Amino acid sequence: MKRTHLVSVLYVLALTGLTTSSFGGGLEDEVDGEIPSLFEIFKYLHANPELSYQEDDTARYVAEELRRLGFEVTEGVGDYGVEGRTSYGVVAVMQNGEGPTVMVRTDLDGLPVQEDSGLPYASVAKGLADDGSEVFAMHACGHDLHMTSWLGTARMLSQMRETWSGTLVFIGQPAEERGAGAQAMLVDGLFERFPKPDYALAWHSNASLASGSVGLVEGYALAAVDSVDITVRGQGGHGAWPHTTKDPVTLAAQIVVNLQTIVSRKVSPLDSAVVTVGSIHGGTKHNIIPNEVKLQLTVRSYKPEVRQLLLDSIRDVAQNSARAQGWPEDLLPIVEIHEEEGTPATFNDPELIERAAEVLRTELGDDHVLYVDPVMGGEDFSYFGIEGNIPMAIFWLGAIEPSVVEAAAAEGRTLPSLHSSGFKPDAKPAIRAGVTGMTAVVVDLMAP
Ligand SMILES: [Zn+2]
Ligand SMILES: [Zn+2]
Repeated sequence: MKRTHLVSVLYVLALTGLTTSSFGGGLEDEVDGEIPSLFEIFKYLHANPELSYQEDDTARYVAEELRRLGFEVTEGVGDYGVEGRTSYGVVAVMQNGEGPTVMVRTDLDGLPVQEDSGLPYASVAKGLADDGSEVFAMHACGHDLHMTSWLGTARMLSQMRETWSGTLVFIGQPAEERGAGAQAMLVDGLFERFPKPDYALAWHSNASLASGSVGLVEGYALAAVDSVDITVRGQGGHGAWPHTTKDPVTLAAQIVVNLQTIVSRKVSPLDSAVVTVGSIHGGTKHNIIPNEVKLQLTVRSYKPEVRQLLLDSIRDVAQNSARAQGWPEDLLPIVEIHEEEGTPATFNDPELIERAAEVLRTELGDDHVLYVDPVMGGEDFSYFGIEGNIPMAIFWLGAIEPSVVEAAAAEGRTLPSLHSSGFKPDAKPAIRAGVTGMTAVVVDLMAP
């Protein structure tokens, strides 16, 4: 057994010109051979995005591909706990001897955006909005790049089984954009029904980083995200008799301003936090004081204690602003935290990042591996780390043509961000880096 194994390893090393357990920069050439067919996969996925909770065809497509590669594939993993809502989670397992279990995750869903990228294979696909109406769909967050890189990585690893030992768990996660899919898969027993990973890895596209390059963040990389609704209640009436009313518009205005003192006066200046009121709605006409005003907030943080402080303070500010204006207790604002859409912060294990950085530098070149700042965007990939018990890392995958990034920097322009209709991925070099980088990182963790 041992001898055969060693012979195969030597055979693969000879084929790929490798001299150590890492590929010494030779892997990219191997990946190049796969790029034409991976690009076809990318174009298909790009042109056929499906919205969160509707990833039926996408899941079937990636599941089929993984089955063809020899993975043991289970579809329909996940439970949203919502009547009639199907989870299209995919779990693909490949066992290859003793060794660690490494999870590689992609997300599957697109966004309700009408594509305006100018790409010849731009999406004209549609999906269903929450209210049942038809809306255009687009992979505006680059999940098509993640899926293609993930399939390419699975392909490479399935072809090089002599270079790694252990268990691969490839996860296709639905409903990332709703912050719901990861949790749904965990609720459905992901880590009980399937091998529990020792490491969890993922890519996320980056709309300001050049294709061919990757970005690394040690420690907190993406924020905890909470959605909060505040209903400011009052007693409406005629705009000309304000003294006979309790005006929720003036109170809502005060609450919006008072909320800004939470980050500036309650959170330590050394901690990161955001409280944004993204929506405010109330009233119908110039001369009517309405009965209520509704606010919608997004709340971002890294540390759990800061997250709790923000949420507690939002309730205090809303209710005490009303009390200060003489509001009766039974008319105080109602503060609702949407726990089903909240995600914890993503903490990239520093040791894992350092180890991966070395491998990525070898494979992609020093100039193509950058340390970048953390962001206050969110990712439900964080759930898979189960509160720090599984070392995890999400890497940024450069997605934009290098000349476009350079020109924008020279002119001081910002590029279309993720989620924008103009997000235009430079697919081939991004996929090349995505497949090469992830394959090398996985092999390094699973070296026999
Ligand atoms: Zn997104
Ligand atoms: Zn995304």
